[in-house]
Amino acid sequence: MSRYFLIATVASATLLSSGCETVDTTKSGAVGVERHQRMAVSSEEVNAGAQKAYGQMMAEAQKKGALDRDPAQVARIKNIVSRLVPQTRAFREDATKWPWEVHVISLDEVNAWCMPGGKMAIYTGLIQKLNATDDELAAVMGHEIAHALREHVREQMSQQAITQMGIGIAGALFGIGDLGQSLAGLVADVTLSKPKSRGMETEADRIGIELAARAGYNPQAAISLWQKMEKLAGSQPPKWLSTHPPHADRISDLQAYSAKVMPLYQAAAKGGASAGK
Ligand SMILES: [Zn+2]
Repeated sequence: MSRYFLIATVASATLLSSGCETVDTTKSGAVGVERHQRMAVSSEEVNAGAQKAYGQMMAEAQKKGALDRDPAQVARIKNIVSRLVPQTRAFREDATKWPWEVHVISLDEVNAWCMPGGKMAIYTGLIQKLNATDDELAAVMGHEIAHALREHVREQMSQQAITQMGIGIAGALFGIGDLGQSLAGLVADVTLSKPKSRGMETEADRIGIELAARAGYNPQAAISLWQKMEKLAGSQPPKWLSTHPPHADRISDLQAYSAKVMPLYQAAAKGGASAGK
């Protein structure tokens, strides 16, 4: 069974019980993200799937001795994430109470991700091959957190369910085994393997730099981050680029929006001494 057929099947089975709705997952923030989204699966189900998949993946990493091996590196990443998370309230009130979690995985791949509901991972390959600064790491994690705030994985699953309703219902009728387990696998698969649309990428870029700026990280680091990614793309394309496809206008959009959020960064940086920056 193909991956996307499976997505349609599971998502449609869920759709049958929850219906289709138009939602605003976030407030628009200073960067002004305002697109309405159509959802056909519930956050609760998607987040439960994410939680299950994440638990299994981290246990697997632990078994292989690849989980959080370098305490200094882990502390560095956790510190950055702990400064970004409180800033999510600029986009949605509930997000500061999500069970956010981040781990560093020893894997020679340029990648980082955030599953629905705030379960994150960053690979040592990204940190090392990009020789990333704290500001650049904040840009990566801010971008990933933004995808979760906008519930892009839930939206991708919903789109699949809506366009393939017929197949999905047929699949649902024939039974799909352990729905909980399938849903967990799908959420992980969509998060780690399915490319986001250009519109989703632009939203994550803009929200990501606002989160970084509010947390006291230079939002312009998003520009150098993408330049480093694209430089690597010539020799060994970063895995990250396959799920976050580059587009020609990205750098100019990041320049425009980092200028827009610069006052937030300056205000945060000014208050930074007392905040333990
Ligand atoms: Zn992205």
